[in-house]
Amino acid sequence: MNIVIFGPPGAGKGTQSKFIVNKYNLHQLSTGDLLRKEIKNKTKLGSEISSIINSGELVSDKIVSNLIEKFISNDTFKNKIIFDGYPRTLIQAMNLDDVLKKYKQKIDIVLKLSVSLETVKKRILQRQTQENRADDNEEIAIKRYKTYEKSSESVLDYYKQSNLLKVVNGETGISEINSEISGLIDTIKG
Ligand code: AMP
Repeated sequence: MNIVIFGPPGAGKGTQSKFIVNKYNLHQLSTGDLLRKEIKNKTKLGSEISSIINSGELVSDKIVSNLIEKFISNDTFKNKIIFDGYPRTLIQAMNLDDVLKKYKQKIDIVLKLSVSLETVKKRILQRQTQENRADDNEEIAIKRYKTYEKSSESVLDYYKQSNLLKVVNGETGISEINSEISGLIDTIKG
């Protein structure tokens, strides 16, 4: 089973991904984490992308698509991936289908966590005290939310058309969201 978890920054994608990873024995593929690792390790790619990430914009589709293919092509993760923070554009969504197809896989469900801008601001400020991310401040949080709003609609339409999209209320508590998500995953597992 491969899952996409979708939603604005601060929606709880990372928290919910970790819960799903443990419960269903999957592997989390967070493009944000992979990109931050490049910056931390001071790689050539890291130096190219740090200012983009810190401004709240998206890095190029090509860069993230290269990162995900490395993961999908690894047999250890076959049909056991939760995509967290990818795809974020229609081009990425189509690329993901192509790459999965190449390795004889597909997406089984897309979980969208819905949260308001107010909640995003609150959660990001809270996370800043825990993770100290350079892009977690109010101004950049608003920018990232706007970036999300600009590119998300076409991705959501794409998944609506293929009947994969399930919307989850991301405003409630962590354990309520856990159970709603489990219910949805259990339905498709049959
Ligand atoms: P995240 O940890 O998912 O909130 O991602 C942090 C930042 O990394 C984003 O604001 C983007 O600048 C970049 N990023 C992560 N995933 C993607 C993606 N799929 N496409 C483009 N940029 C991305």
